[in-house]
Amino acid sequence: MGAASEVLARTAPLYDRVKSVVLPAEWPSFAEDIDAILRLKRERNAVILAHNYQTPEIFHCVADIVGDSLALARRAMDVDADVILMAGVHFMAETAKLLNSSKTVLIPDLHAGCSLAESITAADVRGLRERHPGVPVVTYVNTSAAVKAESDICCTSGNARAIVESLGVPEVIMLPDEYLAQNVAAETSVRIITWNGHCEVHERFTPADVRQVREGHPGVVVLAHPECPPDVVAEADFSGSTAVMQDWVARNHPARVLLLTECSMSDNVAVLHPEVEFVRPCNLCPHMKRISLPGIRQALEEMRHEVVIDPAVAVRARQAVERMLAI
Ligand code: SF4
Repeated sequence: MGAASEVLARTAPLYDRVKSVVLPAEWPSFAEDIDAILRLKRERNAVILAHNYQTPEIFHCVADIVGDSLALARRAMDVDADVILMAGVHFMAETAKLLNSSKTVLIPDLHAGCSLAESITAADVRGLRERHPGVPVVTYVNTSAAVKAESDICCTSGNARAIVESLGVPEVIMLPDEYLAQNVAAETSVRIITWNGHCEVHERFTPADVRQVREGHPGVVVLAHPECPPDVVAEADFSGSTAVMQDWVARNHPARVLLLTECSMSDNVAVLHPEVEFVRPCNLCPHMKRISLPGIRQALEEMRHEVVIDPAVAVRARQAVERMLAI
């Protein structure tokens, strides 16, 4: 048996897992990198954390821990291995480093950013505090460590309302996602001061998209991510984080579903639920898509790019994340 055939034989059980969403012609090139990554993980004593928006060959074939930002943050704290490789975007790698600072945290592409994280700086947060003295700052985890360090507490799309209400105050500043803040404001009596950051993936969905899909796909259930504009959430049947969407599909087994979020999310959930028809449209995140199997392989081979956070920033940012995790 040649080397290539040996790799295909070793990785055959993994292909079986993703064959509903990965073409047979694509697999040989994936298989070689997957085989090398599995070996490198053992050699480096590394674990791979992958966000729900990673492509199925990463999510289902090389990742050790998968989930939304909240799940990845929680699980990063308990990682015992020497190296954490984040198959996700930069703020997620920073959060893992904040919560498990003795580990080497790698991200395969330093330019895997986020339009929300880039919408606000630490100086912007200080400016908001000056304009709204005494109002606590709730910061979405999709921000840099420097912005988290200026905040009272963090939140994710899965726990935003609970975090806002946990503070027991009549008004909060919630940043940087304007739509998430507006969607939370619609569900709570707490007044919310917003910032004008948007997710470039979710802001592109429109109510007309939803109506068009309903016309073409009778009976479809529409689940919208809370980073979508409020008029899109209003058109949906249900709104929730990626973890909540996944649970909803697992519990309800709809015949047809539309997940208004990043494209790979539908692929990853479809692998687990072949009985469900996943209707598109979806939108791609260009930042998440900077992470690839060859990039992960190279990162483990060369032990790059290590995520480093200024200790003075890290200590304050960690407090904001840990306050969230305590709720
Ligand atoms: S999907 Fe949106 S929020 Fe998530 S990383 Fe991409 S730009 Fe940021």
